[in-house]
Amino acid sequence: MTTIRLTNSKTRRKEEFVPLDPANVRMYVCGPTVYDRAHLGNARPVVVFDTLYRLLRHVYGADHVTYVRNFTDVDDKINAEAQRRKALGRPETLEELIRERTEETIAWYHADMDALGALRPGHEPRATEFIGAMIAMIEGLIGQGHAYAVDGHVLFRVRSYKEYGALSGRSVDDMIAGARVEVAPYKEDPMDFVLWKPSDADLPGWDSPWGRGRPGWHIECSAMSYELLGDSFDIHGGGLDLQFPHHENEIAQSCCAHPQGQFARYWLHNEMLQVEGKKMSKSLGNFFTVRDLLNKGIPGEVIRFVLLSTHYRSPMDWTAEKAAQAEATLRKFYRIAADAIDNAEPYIGVMNALADDLNTAQAISELHQLAHAGDSLSLRASLGLLGFLDQGIPAWAKEPDVDLSGQATQFASLRAEAMISKDFSAVDAMKAALIAAGVEVRMSKAGVELVPGPGFDAAKLEALK
Ligand code: AMP
Ligand code: ZN
Repeated sequence: MTTIRLTNSKTRRKEEFVPLDPANVRMYVCGPTVYDRAHLGNARPVVVFDTLYRLLRHVYGADHVTYVRNFTDVDDKINAEAQRRKALGRPETLEELIRERTEETIAWYHADMDALGALRPGHEPRATEFIGAMIAMIEGLIGQGHAYAVDGHVLFRVRSYKEYGALSGRSVDDMIAGARVEVAPYKEDPMDFVLWKPSDADLPGWDSPWGRGRPGWHIECSAMSYELLGDSFDIHGGGLDLQFPHHENEIAQSCCAHPQGQFARYWLHNEMLQVEGKKMSKSLGNFFTVRDLLNKGIPGEVIRFVLLSTHYRSPMDWTAEKAAQAEATLRKFYRIAADAIDNAEPYIGVMNALADDLNTAQAISELHQLAHAGDSLSLRASLGLLGFLDQGIPAWAKEPDVDLSGQATQFASLRAEAMISKDFSAVDAMKAALIAAGVEVRMSKAGVELVPGPGFDAAKLEALK
């Protein structure tokens, strides 16, 4: 069996990945807050962890991997949008308007991430469907002295968990000094974070032992991962921006609520997609959505390819040049892979690259070598492993179905005449006209091959006759 090695943020080392149960490898990834379209930065963890999911399925078997990615559908920005709709005079209740907003956002998310070739995780739990599990977990934490209730709020007592900060390598005192911790009268300590907060009549709320309220963000992931994956599971993923405080808080909650378990054993963090050196984010306003790119005519496979061209632990930029380059490369790969049947094994070099801490950049350079060697079988299977051929060769990359054999014969005879007369002007003129019509002219010792390219224009070709 292939040995997978992963860089574990928890130990800061590249480690051999050994699942708790090879018959059920379990992975949890923090999903989106569903208040608006996903931007390109949000797509990076989706594509990165989809690639890991595919690798795990390949190594352990498709039925032996459980992948959970949540939808955060309790959030102030969702509430604000629902309140805005209400203020515009919509007759529905606030709960209905919240539901409407999250439903439409989830549908967009699915459409956009499907376009990137990301498989849907086996479970996509919504926070609102697990409120009971969150309340039970919070009650347990209060019972064990790890949390306390004040005025309708419940807070996690950070100093009750000695290992707090171990994931990001900071001490509690460093965090207080450096972080924007919210000081509030109901907190014993400024580091303590919210597990539950009260909701007034204008906000969504659920009945709880502490009055009508709603959960904090961090408890969602702890409760949903416990319900769906148990108290110990293999991989927890998400963007590096979530390491502190979100993941520290998840660890504190889960390890205190279920001290018999290990919670997540391997923590993986993708680096940020950046714009001019800054993280792409809604709050900075320096973002564009996946849908913006798709609407501009950039195929989802091209976006996926660009995202995979940089290793997940390095920051990266999106540029138009990268997209153009990726499109040209994919066209070439698809052209070579098109003839191959679809039942070969991925190339060992590609497997080894992915198994080495998901080195997708190296995997792509292996694809170039396969293309160069004309190994269409391995290329096709390897592209499949990287998530490129679920729907076959995409329409945008298919060469137009035209018969250029007449032109090829004509070109070959002009060339043969020119060899004798040493006057190549007619050959050059025809070549230029073919290129202008979007035809690629490939000349080799074996003869001439004419291939209609991406900009193929049959009308211009007609003029040649
Ligand atoms: P959010 O909806 O903001 O919680 O983000 C959803 C996912 O996208 C999380 O895993 C974030 O870490 C990730 N993410 C957000 N912004 C970026 C970015 N610029 N680059 C890479 N990942 C990001
Ligand atoms: Zn989370």
